[in-house]
Amino acid sequence: MYYYMDFATVIRRIEAAGPRHRLDIGDPDLPPPPELLEALGRVGDMRYGPPEGLQAFREAVASIFGVDPGEVVAVAGGRHGLAALMWIFRKRRLLTTRPYYPGYFEIANVFDIPLGFVETGDGWVPQFAERGVYVVNYPNNPTGAVLPRHKVKELVDVAEFIISDEIYRDISFVEFTSPLELSPNVAVVYSFSKVFSVPGLRLGVVIAPRDVAREVARFNKATINVPPTHAQRAIASVIDILPKRREEVSAAYRRRAELAERLLRLPFVKPGGAFYLFPRVSEGCFDKALAAGVSVLPGELYGRGGHVRIALVEPEEQLAEAFSVLNEVC
Ligand code: PMP
Repeated sequence: MYYYMDFATVIRRIEAAGPRHRLDIGDPDLPPPPELLEALGRVGDMRYGPPEGLQAFREAVASIFGVDPGEVVAVAGGRHGLAALMWIFRKRRLLTTRPYYPGYFEIANVFDIPLGFVETGDGWVPQFAERGVYVVNYPNNPTGAVLPRHKVKELVDVAEFIISDEIYRDISFVEFTSPLELSPNVAVVYSFSKVFSVPGLRLGVVIAPRDVAREVARFNKATINVPPTHAQRAIASVIDILPKRREEVSAAYRRRAELAERLLRLPFVKPGGAFYLFPRVSEGCFDKALAAGVSVLPGELYGRGGHVRIALVEPEEQLAEAFSVLNEVC
């Protein structure tokens, strides 16, 4: 069924149905930190800034990640950083794992870049054997998988370069290893959308070797000129709240994943992080669940039919109600 492949069509169908439980898009329901909202209210300076980001912002992020400010470039959200990096490496063999985040597919399509796939087996763990430039995402959307350290080593050993989408790195329930810990040939894409529940703010960073970082700044200049400066100023001024916020959001999403392990009677791999479940389901689950008031997303959008993606973006009590509907119809 072709219409399943088109994200916008699926979302239009969901909106027309007006379900009681919206567990489709990954829009965090936890409120943003009040310190950040106050800081955003205080920022009066909205002039242009440099395409690589304000120095104060780059220094604040560099201090948290333990890197050099020259390796940090501000971008207008994680997706913008991914687009920059996929464009920079467009002439190389680009590979990603399947199921995949549909954003990679959309970016590759817009730039007309071929994208190869590496299939994942049990527990959504791939075998990394082919040489190339990898786009990987752990903790993973849609599966919640986190690679054990020996697998990250396997990846680093075969990859010519790694674009590591670490948008969910703050939401881990198991030990998370970034490829950046094992290799210098890595660009990390990070975003404040999920950790601070502010996807509309459009701010993220790329952390990369200086030559790649300079190319990302060039992409900024060509596409958006300057990443949002008020957001950079506000986030730089409250960067100290990040470690505590990580703990809080990880704990909240972990409780929801544990609730699913107790209540949801569909087969799924226990997530190691992020806030998604990717269970195997019976035919027609998406439609039946939508008709019964619960929206999820069809696995076809992620390159894997026979599954749906459930975003854990409601409080526990409401999730429990949605799980019982899914148990019934899927
Ligand atoms: N990568 C992954 C895997 C995501 O799930 C998302 C958001 N759903 C993004 C990147 C982009 O997030 P943003 O552009 O808001 O930072």
